[in-house]
Amino acid sequence: MRFALINGQRQEAQPRLRGTCPACGDPMVARCGNVRIRHWAHLGRLVCDPWWEETSWHRDWKAQFPVEWQELVQHAPSGEKHIADVKTERGYVLEFQHSPLDPQERRAREDFYQRMVWVIDGTRRSRDRSQLLRAVEDATTISSEIWRLRGFLDDCAFLRDWHGSRTQVVFDFGEDVLWFVFPANGRVYIATFPRGGFIEFHRTGAGEFVQFYPKLVQAVTADIAREQGLLVRQQAQQQTLVASGFQRFMARRQRHRSRF
Ligand SMILES: [Zn+2]
Repeated sequence: MRFALINGQRQEAQPRLRGTCPACGDPMVARCGNVRIRHWAHLGRLVCDPWWEETSWHRDWKAQFPVEWQELVQHAPSGEKHIADVKTERGYVLEFQHSPLDPQERRAREDFYQRMVWVIDGTRRSRDRSQLLRAVEDATTISSEIWRLRGFLDDCAFLRDWHGSRTQVVFDFGEDVLWFVFPANGRVYIATFPRGGFIEFHRTGAGEFVQFYPKLVQAVTADIAREQGLLVRQQAQQQTLVASGFQRFMARRQRHRSRF
């Protein structure tokens, strides 16, 4: 962890410091070796929060936000508590996820944090990015930034892992754009947005992202309506074909009968 409490104050690790864990109150020791970034570790046990993970990728992301927003202990009425990576002034919890999560575990975290965004380390598996680009090639283009995908999930492991999420899911492939995975009506919509704009929105509540997300939802809603309209027309055409087939059958039968 980046912070421990010393005399009730959050402090970063420095050689020979001792502190306590802001979540469980156990003693912590500053680790300041050469291999890993400076951090605090629980004395004699693993991190108290089973949801906790921290890599240099986590540190880089957290550093985009004010120190007071980082590593905030969140409490549920049941007494359960977890350390949120970042909680913004506007009440969003940003969770940076490097390791894989099974769907049940993911739902538990979404239920706990409620208003949250998953930012996922897309560089953990090298094939994920190429699979995403292939999926987008096969996808239907909704607008220059939004694509509709369906029936492809078996080919795209990481989309399959995350498309059932009820919250915002953002993939970070270490590029200038982030990839938003937006499940809707049995399909997955994918959109890109500049990383800087996403960070700006969560830091200040302003910028182009304010328009982006409602625009995405609007485009997806319009697309679904269009697709459903198409489906209804196709069904109506099929019914007409069936009906006309039946009429032809009856007409033949009557002709057949009249000969006797
Ligand atoms: Zn602890």
